[in-house]
Amino acid sequence: MFSLKPDIEVSGVIDLTIERLDSIGIKALLLDVDCTLKRYNSSEPLPDVIDWLTQLRSAGISLYLVSNGGGVRIRQFSESVQIPFVAPAMKPLPFAICRVMRLMNYDKKSTAMVGDQLFTDILAGKLAGILTVLVNPNGANEEPWFARIKRPLEKLFVKR
Ligand SMILES: [Mg+2]
Repeated sequence: MFSLKPDIEVSGVIDLTIERLDSIGIKALLLDVDCTLKRYNSSEPLPDVIDWLTQLRSAGISLYLVSNGGGVRIRQFSESVQIPFVAPAMKPLPFAICRVMRLMNYDKKSTAMVGDQLFTDILAGKLAGILTVLVNPNGANEEPWFARIKRPLEKLFVKR
C-alpha cells in the first residue's frame, strides 16, 4: 500500500552530512524553504545552514529549492543562498520536481526531496519516485492557521 512514511527523518537539514548522503548515494537535494532552511517568519537561513550548504556544494552535491512559497519571496531567498529555485511548486503535485530533475539531469536513485511537511514535501517526493527526508519544522508556530492545523494530522500519519 502507498505509504506517506518518509524514508529518513532528521531533526534538521544539517543532520544530512556529506558522509551520510554519500553512504546512501544521494548526489542532489531538492530543498523546501519555509520551516526547512529558515524559520517561517524569517528571511534568513537558520544558523549553521549557510555553512552546511557551502560544505555540500564543495562536496559536489547539487542543490535546488522547491518551494510552495510566492515567487518573489523565494527568489530573494534563492539569491541570498545562491541556489536555483522553482516557486510556487504546487507540492504535493510532483510536476515541479519532475521538471527540475529533467532540467538538471538528476537521477531518481540519487536525488532526495527534503522538507518539513508530509502532505506537501514528502508526498510530492514519493509521487516523483525519489527518496524523501522529513525534517522537524522550524518556527512552525509562526505559520498561518491553515498550515498549523495540518501538523497534528501529519503526526497521525507518521505513526501508522
Ligand atoms: Mg516547509
